[in-house]
Amino acid sequence: MGNKVKQSTKKTPKGALEKTSGKADYIDVGERHWWYWWKENWRWMKFGVMGLVIIWLLGVNLGWWREDAGVNPRKISAVAIDPRVEVPNLPQRFLDGSKKLVSLTFDDGPNEGTTLRLLDILKEKNVYATFFVLGIQAEKYPDIVKREVREGHEVGSHTMRHKVLTTLSAEAIKSDTNDANRTIKSILGYNAKIIRPPYGIINDTVRGALGVPLITWTVDTEDWKSKNADAVKAEVEKAVFDGSIVLMHDIYPSTVDAIGGIIDNLKKQDYEFVTVSEMAKARKVKLKSGEVYGGFAR
Ligand SMILES: [Zn+2]
Repeated sequence: MGNKVKQSTKKTPKGALEKTSGKADYIDVGERHWWYWWKENWRWMKFGVMGLVIIWLLGVNLGWWREDAGVNPRKISAVAIDPRVEVPNLPQRFLDGSKKLVSLTFDDGPNEGTTLRLLDILKEKNVYATFFVLGIQAEKYPDIVKREVREGHEVGSHTMRHKVLTTLSAEAIKSDTNDANRTIKSILGYNAKIIRPPYGIINDTVRGALGVPLITWTVDTEDWKSKNADAVKAEVEKAVFDGSIVLMHDIYPSTVDAIGGIIDNLKKQDYEFVTVSEMAKARKVKLKSGEVYGGFAR
């Protein structure tokens, strides 16, 4: 019988614990279940778990665990940028407004072959740009517009039909740009917040009719004229400066051929690539409706 004799102590209704001499002891080690250990220790451990949750929440909000953390040259700094807060699922980006900034902009798209190839290159090089889309092209390729935004780029309007706005009445300008806005909104769920008037041709009627900030450029690559990758690269090299907005078109294969080299060159010169709205914010410029912005030099 010896081994079979049970402990003389009695179990509590829950099993393994019994008070002896005023302090809790485990009576039968063999019957000690993980659950009792857990219950005993949970009162302390929950603080640790809460701490981890708080650190995790902070981390998510500060972007410590971004998909591209460590690759993206944008590091946490004083200026938090997110011009598209109303767009879900976009990464909150941070950038340093004291660094050299450049904004690559692409007009007249989207265009199936060239824009898709351009997006692949921008993604590979982790560069964010701004696309001034034409309403009639956006209608044709809504998925490309969605991809542009999904991959962190900014989409602005380039009007519906690429007319010289100064030849139109205020009503006709509004009608055309409303068409473009309706198209963009049907694709993205929001209106473009900036517009690039075709050819950069602007007068007071245009400024009054558009109802959003007007974005022109500081570096004209004339890619539409040269249609030559080396020439486009040379134009950027020659004219780029901190705060410049570079005008290109994502409808020319030669421009897409040039872009990899342009990005590599600018990276060597420590430029950060930002969208137009990001650059304005980084330079603490509040974009105003009807005003014209060609760059954001310090
Ligand atoms: Zn254009």
